[in-house]
Amino acid sequence: MVLKSRWSFDIPQVSLPTYLFDSPTADLPKTPALISAKYPEKYYISVHTYRLYAQRLAVGLLRAGLQPGERVLLFSGNTLFFPTVMMGIIMAGGIYTGANPTYVARELAYQLKDSGAKYLLCAEGSLDTGIAAAQEAGLPASSVFVFDDGVATFEGRTVENHAPALGGTIRHWTTLLASEADGRAYAWPDLRTPAELDTVVALNYSSGTTGLAKGVMITHANYVANSAQQMWMSTMAADYAQRRPSIKHLCFLPMYHAMAQALFCVNATKMRLPVYVMPKFDFIEMLQYIQKYQITDLVLVPPVIVAMAKHPAVQNFDLSSVVKVGSGAAPLGREIAEEFEKLWPDRRVNVKQGWGMTELTCAATTADPDKVSRNGAVGELLPNCEAKLVLDDEGKVEAPRGERGEIWIRAPNVMKGYWGKPEATRETLTPDGWLKTGDVAYIDEDNEIHVVDRKKELIKVKGLQVAPAELEALLLDHPSVQDVAVIGITLNDEELPRAYIVPRTPSQATPQVADAIKTWLAERVSRAKRLDGGVVFMEAIPKNPSGKILRKELREMAKAEAEA
Ligand code: ATP
Ligand code: MG
Repeated sequence: MVLKSRWSFDIPQVSLPTYLFDSPTADLPKTPALISAKYPEKYYISVHTYRLYAQRLAVGLLRAGLQPGERVLLFSGNTLFFPTVMMGIIMAGGIYTGANPTYVARELAYQLKDSGAKYLLCAEGSLDTGIAAAQEAGLPASSVFVFDDGVATFEGRTVENHAPALGGTIRHWTTLLASEADGRAYAWPDLRTPAELDTVVALNYSSGTTGLAKGVMITHANYVANSAQQMWMSTMAADYAQRRPSIKHLCFLPMYHAMAQALFCVNATKMRLPVYVMPKFDFIEMLQYIQKYQITDLVLVPPVIVAMAKHPAVQNFDLSSVVKVGSGAAPLGREIAEEFEKLWPDRRVNVKQGWGMTELTCAATTADPDKVSRNGAVGELLPNCEAKLVLDDEGKVEAPRGERGEIWIRAPNVMKGYWGKPEATRETLTPDGWLKTGDVAYIDEDNEIHVVDRKKELIKVKGLQVAPAELEALLLDHPSVQDVAVIGITLNDEELPRAYIVPRTPSQATPQVADAIKTWLAERVSRAKRLDGGVVFMEAIPKNPSGKILRKELREMAKAEAEA
């Protein structure tokens, strides 16, 4: 069965900059759009300024010699000018790529080389990493720029950082900015035809959860489609028009990753909604800012929901401004979502999940905003999307409704392919346009999609499939469990589930508590799902900045332990 979205509409046939800013000269709002959460009065930029600086950067990059399709890498945490850099590169006809700001030099060098980046814009605080990576990738000093929010303080000055390793000095990124007049006069290419809109604008690297991160090619058409699809869903809410003037977002998710990039560098701008920007996630600061700025809409990832549900400090903050909460990027159990929703005694807040992946630009499902979501589903297909659940690699055998299969998606927001990896592209995209997502899901009677886990994560216990996500969701409900990750380990040639657990208090890390947790779970699951691979206590579950569990680190730990 092929499931079609219940909505469809004509997606605008324009370039991403035109979609966002209407035209190079259209009147745009001058009210704060991207606002520093730390210094809101001093540092903010409007949609007008966002466009102007992107135009100025585009002209500067073109003057520096950037050719169509050349890559520019931004290595930074969130800043007000992060979106500007992304859009400036795109306006110049280049390809933007953003790297995880927690990368070490080796990882950054991989992305520099894999993308073949011509320029690196590197956060001031990460210059050591940036220089080491640039050296490994063979970039000269003249290709590296210091990036920060310091437009106000630095513009017009020559800031030089000596980088002997790169054989020269590194300039500040503002030295790339053309004058205001030249920026204003810059009309980015007015693309209209399907072939033109199929031009790649971004190489978004997937999280690398299952292997090396791959450069996902996202086009103008992909971006415009996915933004319009998501906007369709959020603006159809019955209370949208009435709520619109008060909507405020807080961005602490990393802008280099598909999720925050789409939501905060593109969608919020398109919708002209203000976003308070944090450089990176900080739990207490996040709570402070929600209270201080009366944030109404929160975009969260499961680890943040877990922390908010479990951390006593939450009680010290007034979260009554919050109306809408979305979650994505990783599985979220209904039990923990219920706990979280109790933070609002009137049960006014309902966590709505969305599901997506870098290959889908951002998302392919979200929950209907007007329906209460209590069944753990990731919502319904976005407009203009199709899905099918398949049981074989060719996609010929489809799972009936209610049964599990690998979910395939066909939609205008499906990537063009993997950069420089034609084989991986052929394995992932079928000739008739289906994206093999690698996620296992089922579709219920209401056409809501339930994501069970990743195909590759399923643990095969005596031929039965066990989904780590299901066990993690259950275990989070145990009073001694602060956080948890489940993997399959091999014991005497058998695969068995093992839980890595962060206890509520360090003193609970005892064999007795481990046994109690095992027994507690055994009472709630079938035989194959018991923790026969053991319980191991640890201080923190390894996760990446967008909240994904780094299971390969746990697997390496288990392997090292087995060999010891
Ligand atoms: P890589 O492909 O490089 O191994 P990755 O798949 O983790 O890394 P992303 O594109 O950031 O990289 O993540 C997409 C994946 O995140 C999806 O395939 C899915 O497994 C998971 N995911 C996203 N949203 C949800 C959700 N709501 N529920 C469950 N899983 C989700
Ligand atoms: Mg993936």
